[in-house]
Amino acid sequence: MLEALDTGGHLLNIHHSEIALKKGNRSFFESRLKLNIQNSLSDIPGVSLKGDFGRFFVKLAPGVAVDRVVQRLQKVIGIANIRIAYPGATDPQLLKVQIFEQIQSLTFNTFSIDTRRADKSFPFTSVQMNQIIGAFIHQEMHKAVDLENADLVVKIEIFNQRVYYSVFSFAGERGLPLGSTGKVVSMISSGIDSPVASFMMMKRGCHVTFVHFHSFPFTEKSSTYNAMDLVKKLTIYQNYSRLYLVPLAELQKAIILAAPAKLRVVMYRRMMFRLAEKIARLEHCRGLVTGESLGQVASQTLDNIAAISETVSMPVLRPLIGMEKDEIVKMARRIDTFSLSTEPYDDCCSYLAPPKPETNAKLHEIYDVEGKMGDWPTLLDTALAASEVVRFKFPETNSEDG
Ligand code: ATP
Ligand code: MG
Repeated sequence: MLEALDTGGHLLNIHHSEIALKKGNRSFFESRLKLNIQNSLSDIPGVSLKGDFGRFFVKLAPGVAVDRVVQRLQKVIGIANIRIAYPGATDPQLLKVQIFEQIQSLTFNTFSIDTRRADKSFPFTSVQMNQIIGAFIHQEMHKAVDLENADLVVKIEIFNQRVYYSVFSFAGERGLPLGSTGKVVSMISSGIDSPVASFMMMKRGCHVTFVHFHSFPFTEKSSTYNAMDLVKKLTIYQNYSRLYLVPLAELQKAIILAAPAKLRVVMYRRMMFRLAEKIARLEHCRGLVTGESLGQVASQTLDNIAAISETVSMPVLRPLIGMEKDEIVKMARRIDTFSLSTEPYDDCCSYLAPPKPETNAKLHEIYDVEGKMGDWPTLLDTALAASEVVRFKFPETNSEDG
C-alpha cells in the first residue's frame, strides 16, 4: 500500500495511547514521547517533528521514504497509531474532490468521514464537513456510510486554519513512553521468557538495563553472545541500553562445594538476585525484572520464588507470572527475539544442574549452605568488579542519554 504513495512532503499524524489518561502529568509524558520519537528518527534526514494541540506531526521533506519512517514510528512505545496526512483545501467543495481522488482506486464497501475541528473559528462545523464530504463520496462511488465499523475511515483534522486529511493508518506499539515511569534492571538469560519480560516493562514506560550471568570459563561464551544479540534487538525500542555481563563461575564453584545438588539452582538464583540488586543501585534503578512464570519450571514454584526474592529489598517485577508459554512465545515472535532465544547456548543455570531440582526450598537448608560457603559476600563483589559492560544504541548514530 505504501509504495503507491507519492513522497511529496506530507505529514505523519501521530496519536499517542494512554497519555490522555494522565491528566496532571500529561506534559511530562508528552515531552518524553517527543524525545523518544526524535531519537528514533535521528538518522533519517528530511524529517521534522512538531507538536500541536496534544498530538505530534512528523513532516517529511519531498523524497523521504514514508515506509521507513512509519516502520520506525511503529517501534516507538507510546504511539497508538500513525496516519499519513495530506494537506487539503479549506473549502469543503474542493476538499471533497481531493479526497475522492485519493480513495477512488481503493477497495472498500463501507466508509465514514471523521472530522475533528480544533480550530473553532473554521466556518464549517465537524458535522457539516462530514455531511458535505460523505454525501459526495456516496454519490460518486455508491458506497454506504457506516459510522460504527467502516472499512475505510477518512479523518479530517482542522487546526491553525489548516486542513489535513488522512486515509491510511498504521497501528503503533501503544504503552507508556519509554523512560516515563522509571528505570529497572532486567535479568536476561538467553531463553525465551526474559526478553519478553523486559519488553513488557518497556511498554509500561521503564528504561531497562540488562544483566546477564555466565559461567565462563566453565562453559562457552555462547550465552553471552545470545544475550548481546537479544539486547541489540530490544534496544530498537529504547534508543540505548547497557548490558552487564557478570561472571558467576566462582560463586557457582562455592555453591557446588557446599550445597546438595537439588538446591543448586535456587542458590545460584539467590546470588544472581543479590548481584542484580547491586547493579540496580549503581544504575539508580528502582526495580528488578525477571521472566519467571509461576509453575513453568522447578525453580518457579511459590516456595522457590519466596526463597529467591527474600535476598533483595527492591521490588521484583515479574510481568510473565500469570502468562502461559504459548502467549509468551507469541509475543517473542512478534518482537523478533524468538529465533535468537531458541539458538543453542550454554546456560549457566543448566551448568551442573541436577536432574531433580528442589521445588520446595526450605530457608533453614539454604542458610545452612550459605553458612558453609565461606566468604561469599566478597565473591559477589569480585564478580561485580569483573563484570563487563556492553553498550548498545539505536539508531547507531544516536547519542546515549542517560
Ligand atoms: P528464560 O526463558 O528467561 O531463560 P526460563 O523459563 O528458562 O526463563 P529460568 O531458567 O528458571 O526460567 O529463569 C528464570 C528467570 O531468571 C529468567 O527469566 C531470567 O530473568 C533469570 N535468569 C535465568 N538465568 C539467567 C542468566 N544466565 N542471566 C540472567 N538472568 C537469568
Ligand atoms: Mg532459562
